[in-house]
Amino acid sequence: MDVPGNSTTGNIPDAFVRYLTDVAGHEKASVAVASLSSLPCTSIRVNPSKFAGADNAGYRYRPVPWSRFGAILENRPVFTLDPYFHAGAYYVQDISSMFIGHAFSAILGDSGLGGCPLKILDLCAAPGGKTTDLASRMPEGSLLVANEVIRQRVGTLRDNVMIWGSPDVAVTCGDPSRFGKHLVDFFDFVIVDAPCSGEGMFRKDPSALGQWSEDTVSLCSARQKRILADVWPALKPGGVLIYSTCTYNRYENGDNIAWMKSSFGAESVPVRCPEAENAGAIPDEHGGMLFIYGVTEGEGQYCAAVRKPEGAFAAYPEKKAGYVPVKGFLEKAFDRKMFSLRNADGEAVEVLPENLCGMLPYIRQAVPVLSAGVIAGSMRGKDFVPDASLALSSAYERDFYPRMPVDRETALRFLAKENIFLSGYPKGYLAVEYGGLPIGFVKNIGARMNNLHPSSRRIRMDIKLRNDE
Ligand code: SAM
Repeated sequence: MDVPGNSTTGNIPDAFVRYLTDVAGHEKASVAVASLSSLPCTSIRVNPSKFAGADNAGYRYRPVPWSRFGAILENRPVFTLDPYFHAGAYYVQDISSMFIGHAFSAILGDSGLGGCPLKILDLCAAPGGKTTDLASRMPEGSLLVANEVIRQRVGTLRDNVMIWGSPDVAVTCGDPSRFGKHLVDFFDFVIVDAPCSGEGMFRKDPSALGQWSEDTVSLCSARQKRILADVWPALKPGGVLIYSTCTYNRYENGDNIAWMKSSFGAESVPVRCPEAENAGAIPDEHGGMLFIYGVTEGEGQYCAAVRKPEGAFAAYPEKKAGYVPVKGFLEKAFDRKMFSLRNADGEAVEVLPENLCGMLPYIRQAVPVLSAGVIAGSMRGKDFVPDASLALSSAYERDFYPRMPVDRETALRFLAKENIFLSGYPKGYLAVEYGGLPIGFVKNIGARMNNLHPSSRRIRMDIKLRNDE
């Protein structure tokens, strides 16, 4: 099927249209194909531990019907030039993707688990969209393991988790089979945002269209089953697996849910949402929900959930081996009781809330852990050098280091790792704040200030541009 007047969609495979018609009907499939020539909307999800709403950043927006943290912006700003973006005040995310966070909250509410500390695995987590949403929604005292199997993608995940600032997250890099093998019955929730054929991304990323074929769909479907089978033993009996893809065809969506039911005795947990249905999302026979560009605002997404049948399960008593309460100077850097693990040189390498360090030894036995909790800083001789992650953490006690509020231009120069200097501040470490949010540290040595912003996250863009250009 050709869409006249659109070069990016001039070559749409018939099989794709057939698959889409199969799940959405002819009318909606036509609307979706026609919408490939329109522009996706721009949306953000605010961080409730840092911001009350998108208007805090000065953005004009409309709410997202299925996400209380979501905002559809009137214009697309240059996010790189907004210091709030670097402060972790919001995450740029498509509105359909925000449905997974909503489904998690809705299932928590329905099952009465809302107040219980949970162990949650986000299995395919990079770059961290769902992870940061889940971190904002999980009950207090919960532990979230954000895993990404592809090594080159873990760094971005770790950065996004650090910038978001939730201290209850461990970032790991392991194959799904390691969880199923070494952490049997461990997790109350497993989120599988599976690698897929990407039909729902065709509008945002036309190159996905060129890579699509019926064979790709078959390969993806087989890989998804393998991932699900590998991780299934790690789900606790009675626990819930939320499955999602950004594709439309039944082979990678509903058929995989049906397969989990017949293979593992999984039971459907409906993720219906009247607000989403009113906005055009399509419910399926497994209680799942399909979002289609052109039909709903936002890109393509499928989401469904299943429960593992109740039964006996292995217990995991807390282990705290190696972790000691943070005492002395650093104790006051946090608004809650924290623990640390010391490496051979006695440096504090990780600072963790109690709930996380009790379970981390189990995680470490199963998969490589890249980071956990807050990277507070490191010892350089007798000097403790704070890490940017400390400033960005929601557990950071704001008055620990003297605050240095800066304007937008100075914030951007700081984030570009230029030298900044403001007079009238005491010597030593200062927390750089923009709009009331810490964005990092400088060390004031009198004649100048050393910029401690991580080089790897330095803004490389021309910061003299306005952020609406
Ligand atoms: N959840 C992420 C988010 O919201 O930002 C997006 C995840 S993306 C749809 C799927 C992820 O699965 C990718 O990061 C990809 O690297 C990872 N992946 C690829 N092959 C995999 C495999 N065999 N097992 C597990 N994950 C895999």
